[in-house]
Amino acid sequence: MSLFENTLKQMKKASRLMNLDKDIEDILSRPQKIIEVDVPVQMDDGSSKVFKGFRVQHNNALGPYKGGIRFHPQVDMAEVQALAAWMTIKTAVVGIPLGGGKGGVVVNPKELSEAELERLTRKYTQLIAPVIGPKTDIPAPDVGTNPQIMEWIADEYSKIVGKNSPGVVTGKPLDKGGSRGRGSATAQGGVFVLNEYVKENGMDVRETKVVIQGFGNAGGVAAKLLVENGYVVLGASDSQGGIICTHGIDPNELLTCKIEKKSVKNCGRHVEEIHDKDGMTCRMVNNEELLEAECDVLVLAALENQITAENADKIKAKVVLELANGPISPEADEILHKKGIVVLPDILANAGGVTVSYFEMLQNADDKYWSKEEVISKLKDIMVHAWKEVNSTAKKYTCPLRVAAYITAIKLIESKIHNNL
Ligand code: NAD
Repeated sequence: MSLFENTLKQMKKASRLMNLDKDIEDILSRPQKIIEVDVPVQMDDGSSKVFKGFRVQHNNALGPYKGGIRFHPQVDMAEVQALAAWMTIKTAVVGIPLGGGKGGVVVNPKELSEAELERLTRKYTQLIAPVIGPKTDIPAPDVGTNPQIMEWIADEYSKIVGKNSPGVVTGKPLDKGGSRGRGSATAQGGVFVLNEYVKENGMDVRETKVVIQGFGNAGGVAAKLLVENGYVVLGASDSQGGIICTHGIDPNELLTCKIEKKSVKNCGRHVEEIHDKDGMTCRMVNNEELLEAECDVLVLAALENQITAENADKIKAKVVLELANGPISPEADEILHKKGIVVLPDILANAGGVTVSYFEMLQNADDKYWSKEEVISKLKDIMVHAWKEVNSTAKKYTCPLRVAAYITAIKLIESKIHNNL
């Protein structure tokens, strides 16, 4: 089953429960526009290569299409469609006036020189320029892209339209119109949601043990914030493997070590040396062992389909926080639900990123820039409000939080579509 089919399956559960109009379901079941491009790039050695690129505009009932651009060797059209649809739902869950879109280029950015990456980004921008713009479709970073790449897109787009248009992307560097707090927004939003869940369920953060899959932008920052909030982060992993330590890791040390030793899996000894006086032991774990570790909260911050029908039964966490998009397949979702494991779903839990992207658009429009405290406080208001809406919908319909998040979002989109018909 493709990732987009997974998305439709999730949406169907909600539409059945809420008795959604067939017309609205049809509208949301397909993207409004799909763009597929071949991106020719001159390589440093003088040869040329063609990379496949996509931009999918799923729905703009609430506002301009919004969504990141992924540079990854395995990205494909079905994945981009799924990610675009989730953006439509996510922006509605947090109630911001944006629609859903997503882009992707089939490339491993780590294998390109900086000059090649810049040429690829500029060429891709030229090819999708007719459909993007500050009022139509606003890309942002995702896996494999970053503020520098956003700056190249903004610059290239500005040349094409003949005027400075930084508002064509969000996630820009701070000195180019970016927002304070954007880098930590996804993780921060997820931590706000987890804090609300923990509070509501009478859990004690100091006794809440967390394991994190994916020690990248979202997962690395989440580790820091969770420790700052008093949680015990037992371990983390990246694509090469991970470590789990008996008394918890220090995210800052692990981050420094990962940069130096390329993977967190090589940091067990390092962390152990620092903490051995406390009698701490760390062990290297592979991806399966990390996912199946004894813990209270499992944070998924890597890629899609990490928990499937194959391994769902082995998950021991009580709560799963989805910072990644689509890390649990629909079959696995049902297995986890039957086991009583609560999933704080991606379309709510990782919406902090797009929310601060929206803040960036507001700041660009006013040319007034907010402090980091202001950004975080506004983000907290939105995330806590979204959590309350989704949680009360889950109670009203007696359904899992993911289905409730879809219902919350689709109701808003439905009313907008009806108004516009
Ligand atoms: P990233 O590339 O910075 O980090 C991903 C991390 O996951 C890397 O450390 C990578 O090594 C690791 N990883 C990959 N495969 C793994 C595996 N099998 N096991 C363990 N680790 C693995 O990307 P990111 O920006 O942190 O995004 C991660 C996820 O969060 C993606 O699904 C993305 O769409 C989602 N997300 C990110 C943002 C954001 O603002 N960064 C916003 C919304 C959603």
